[in-house]
Amino acid sequence: MDLKKYITIVPDFPKEGIQFKDITTLMDNGEAYKYATDQIVQYAREKEIDIVVGPEARGFIIGCPVAYSLGVGFAPVRKEGKLPRETIKVEYGLEYGKDALTIHKDAIKEGQRVLITDDLLATGGTIEATIKLVEQLGGVVAGIAFLIELSYLEGRKKLEGYDIFTLMKY
Ligand code: 5GP
Repeated sequence: MDLKKYITIVPDFPKEGIQFKDITTLMDNGEAYKYATDQIVQYAREKEIDIVVGPEARGFIIGCPVAYSLGVGFAPVRKEGKLPRETIKVEYGLEYGKDALTIHKDAIKEGQRVLITDDLLATGGTIEATIKLVEQLGGVVAGIAFLIELSYLEGRKKLEGYDIFTLMKY
């Protein structure tokens, strides 16, 4: 299936010069969403995944159906102040300023094999922070899956040494 057909490119969103890849037109198509999910499940199957982890909010959209299909749990990574219990935090640089991602301290057990999911790999900052959270809890990052990779931003370089799977490249 040609998944790119289902991605809508929105010029100048959220600001001028950005060609935003809108995945909602893939998600709202049952066949395309299922196909994309199944591709990631197939990638993850032989990796003996114990738990799926994804950053808010689009990492949930990709990760939750994959976790369901694998028959494993899902642990959310969220912006600071959103998770109700004890968390650990990693700060990461944005274009302007800093942001922080958190995960519940008991979300991952030592040695668990983790699949990380998100919709899109751009500079890699979000996933780099997510990897740090997983590893601080003793998790092993067994694979990282995205729908889309913006190759020209070279996010892969930041994630060297990790197994990365992407369904579409721009
Ligand atoms: P990075 O941290 O790799 O620079 O940025 C990736 C994050 O920004 C992802 O969590 C993704 O949801 C969001 N993002 C950045 N650009 C786009 C885009 O064009 N389309 C979508 N759907 N998400 C984007």
